Order: sequence, then C-alpha cells, then structure tokens
Amino acid sequence: MSLTQSFHIPVQRAYPSRLHEVDWENLEFGKYFTDHMLICDYEDGQWKEPQIIPFGDFRLSPVALALHYGQTIFEGMKAFRMDVRPTGPSKNIPRSPERTNVCPSDDEPPVRPGDGSINIFRPEKHYDRMVLTCERMCMPAVPREVFIEGLHQLIDLDRNWVPGEEGSALYIRPFMIATEARLRVKVSESYRFAIVASPTGNYFQQPVRVKVERDFVRAARGGTGYAKCGGNYGASMYPTQKAKEEGYDQVLWTDGQTHRYIEESGAMNVFFVLDGTLVTPPLSDSILDGVTRDSLLKLAQRDGIPIAERPVDVEELKEAFKKGTITEAFGAGTAAVISPIGVIGIDGNDYTLPASGTGSARSIGAQLKDALDNIRYGREADTEEWNFIVK
Ligand SMILES: *Cc1c(COP(=O)(O)O)cnc(C)c1O
Repeated sequence: MSLTQSFHIPVQRAYPSRLHEVDWENLEFGKYFTDHMLICDYEDGQWKEPQIIPFGDFRLSPVALALHYGQTIFEGMKAFRMDVRPTGPSKNIPRSPERTNVCPSDDEPPVRPGDGSINIFRPEKHYDRMVLTCERMCMPAVPREVFIEGLHQLIDLDRNWVPGEEGSALYIRPFMIATEARLRVKVSESYRFAIVASPTGNYFQQPVRVKVERDFVRAARGGTGYAKCGGNYGASMYPTQKAKEEGYDQVLWTDGQTHRYIEESGAMNVFFVLDGTLVTPPLSDSILDGVTRDSLLKLAQRDGIPIAERPVDVEELKEAFKKGTITEAFGAGTAAVISPIGVIGIDGNDYTLPASGTGSARSIGAQLKDALDNIRYGREADTEEWNFIVK
C-alpha cells in the first residue's frame, strides 16, 4: 500500500541535523527525537494547514486546558527499514543510519533492488483508533490525509533516522492536546495535533514479573479504557508503583467490577497459551484495541494456531498452573512487540511459567513475533496489506 503525494506539506528544515548526537549502540527508548516534527492546529472550528518544522518546544498558555482537565490523547506506531539482504559478505552493508548516508563503494556487495525502503506499519488502523479516542474525549479528529500524508512526508524527510538493525525501528508518536487558555472546566475549542518520532533499538526481553491487581482499577465499564488518552496512564501509576515495591515489574489488570477477569497489562494486551490454545481476553470498553494484539491474532489464524478471544478467570489461571496446562504468557504492544511473562503473582502467591515457554525459540510467542517481523522487515509477502511503504 502506498499513497501518491496528494498534497504537499510546507517544510521548515532543521539545520544542522542532530543525527550525529545519537548513541546508536545504546538507543534508550524515547530519548532521541528526529530532526523534524509535524504540527497541525485546530482553531475556529477547523483544521489549519499542517507544517513540518524542526523538533522543538511548544509555546503553551499555563492555563491551556490540556494541562488541567486531561484532554490529551496519543498513538504509538512504528516504521521499519526493510531488510537489506546482502548477496556477499555482510560487513560493508549499510545498516545503521550513519552508514546509509555514505555512498556505497565499489567493493560493497550488491543489495536486492527495492530493499532498504521504509515501511510504516498499519497507519490506517492507528488512525481509526485515534478517531475513536478523539470521539470519547470530545476532541476533533484530525483529517485522515493530514495524518497519513503527514506521516508519509515526515518519515520520508527523516528517513535517515530509521535504524537498520534487526529488531530496531523508528517509534512514531502522534498526539493531540487541548490548547485553549481557559480555567473553566469545558471542552476546548482549540487543539494542537503533532507527530514526533524516536529511533528505538532491539531490546533483549527479560521475562517480566506481573502482579494480578485485585484492588485498584485501570478502567471501569463505561470509562475510557478503550481510548488511548493520557489520563489512563496517570491513573495507573500509583498501583504500578505499589506493585514494583512488591517486586513486580507490571500490573495485570482485572475487570473493575468483579476483579475476576484478566483485562490487560500496563501498556500491553495480554496473551496466554492454555492447553495449546492462544487465549486473549475479548475487547470491551475497558480494554485497548491493540494493533499488535490484532496482528498476532490474524497471524495465528493464518498459521493454524488455535485461538480464542474469551474471558480469562483468575481462578482458571491458578488451576492451569496446578495442572501444568499454561505454557506461555506474554504482553503484546507496539513498543516491545512481545514481552514474555515469567512470573504471575496472584493473591500473594507467585506462579512461575515454564522456562521452555514464552521467550524460548520454539514458543508460540516467538513464532508469532518472527511472523510479524518477517512481514514488517519485508522478508515475507505482505499478505495482509499492513505495510505502508514510504516512497
Ligand atoms: C497502546 C496500548 C496497548 C497496545 O496497543 P498497540 O496498538 O499494540 O501498541 C495496549 N494497552 C494499552 C492500555 C495501550 O495504551
């Protein structure tokens, strides 16, 4: 899938580039930002012309409504540099962004034509989710072409920032804030939409310890759990910090009414392998509809792995640990892709997943991650039409 350049967004170029300031060997998540950002303001009932400008601070009134009453939303997606597969020895192959700037010398082995292009993963799905989020937060949806074309032109301009190492990507953060200067509780009449991007590395995923949360609530029925809004995160920090004090890395949320059913974890949807079936809780208004969740389910279906979207009772998990029928558990989200769970704490007892499960090379989690990466890095046909190639 690709778009023709239907409209051109004015660009104010950043000079000089900050590419050389990046420590490419140690890409700490969310630390470095590309040279440019896109901004688009909403005023007087309409969206103004988007602009691409150097990455930098915003000027904002201290009484901008976003700062007081929480009209802030975001998305998180990734762009990948599609696999550059050498036909000769690999040592001279352009891999990191600095090196892609260098003209290939004669002794470098040829690369397959068309490789090394940039792929934004499922931008349309992220756009649709942002529209839903905007609706829930009484915020105007940015026009589709501003989002899609804006992404396209921004990532094209900053394409040297997309890392080339296996497992690395450019993390893209579209977001919107209420900018009207007013202290009264009201729906803002002005907004800023922006897109920033940050290179991320390939992180080794240590299995995490999660605590099943039986007291605190992330999202209630009728609340904003399905929306990607800042407030959901603000509210989850205290319970997460408590869980950390007890020696866990993350909270595994249960439903707000009965605390019996698993919902999701931190910023990730959650999967279990129970009796060989890949199980994940069904979507509801208290669970975020993750693009990674959706992609993994579709790939599992394609590859003949049995799947079930059904409620997961905490008691069932305890039983499954007793009987040994739970073999894997993992979180799934854009940032870490798949995050293996090593221990689940339930009501003061720690249950350990078998080491042969998630994270091991033959696990369903690892198999699905490979299938996803093969599409995103262009090693396999994009059968689902998920890739959006930046021309
Ligand atoms: C963003 C997010 C996810 C994961 O969604 P992806 O689209 O896969 O990145 C899961 N849960 C919550 C609460 C989130 O905010």
